[in-house]
Amino acid sequence: MANRRPVIAGNWKMFKTVSEAEDYAVKFLDEVKDVTDLDIVLCAPFTALHALKNELEESIVHIGAQNMAWADQGAYTGEISAQMLLDVACTYVIIGHSERREMFGETDQEIAKKVQQAIAVGLTPILCCGENLNLREEGQAVERVQGQVSRALSGLSIEDLSRIIVAYEPIWAIGTGKTASSQDAQEMCAAIRATLTELMGPTAEKVPILYGGSVKAENIGELMKEPDVDGALVGGASLDPLSFAKLIKNA
Ligand code: PGA
Repeated sequence: MANRRPVIAGNWKMFKTVSEAEDYAVKFLDEVKDVTDLDIVLCAPFTALHALKNELEESIVHIGAQNMAWADQGAYTGEISAQMLLDVACTYVIIGHSERREMFGETDQEIAKKVQQAIAVGLTPILCCGENLNLREEGQAVERVQGQVSRALSGLSIEDLSRIIVAYEPIWAIGTGKTASSQDAQEMCAAIRATLTELMGPTAEKVPILYGGSVKAENIGELMKEPDVDGALVGGASLDPLSFAKLIKNA
């Protein structure tokens, strides 16, 4: 993990009403309030963000969204802008999650615009990348992931690039209970860092790279031992405040 500060981000996906989010925030904050050695982020559905602002603003738990629009404002029915996220105290935003790429047709080009927009307003983008099982079996995984990362980040200055987080999430490991081995995670995170080094030189050493895909309290310790794995993006295991707090303490 070198000298980078670890990040553990929960991705609630399409779960939790406002009252559930409030209840979670109170219990969770109580459990993690003494954690000082890593950054904690909760990425909630849009409708729960204001509740998290009320409960968590200025606490050690940072608030994130799971998507946003690439445009500033305007006639974009159904979209949420980066400014709107700032308004509810978000400081992070997940961009290009595989569920958005696969189910909602998000393209590399849109993802690149969203990353630029997030950086422009001062949000930290958590850029997701990852291959499906076919590509892995065909030996194309590294090429796919490096391509996703360079297409999402091309054109950014070194200064902008130093404000991102990358999350490697192999699609075959998401929600399946099948975690990549620590070696597989390390290999891909190192390959991502090599791509970042091409784009930004030695400053790439400062970018946190997270692993995601069936991360649990039981396997986080092992994953975090790897030199290029700087934390995790956690779906299912972030839904219960006490279990997620336990995972964080094991990191
Ligand atoms: P999972 O999801 O932890 O439930 O596998 C991770 C993610 O999709 O971010």
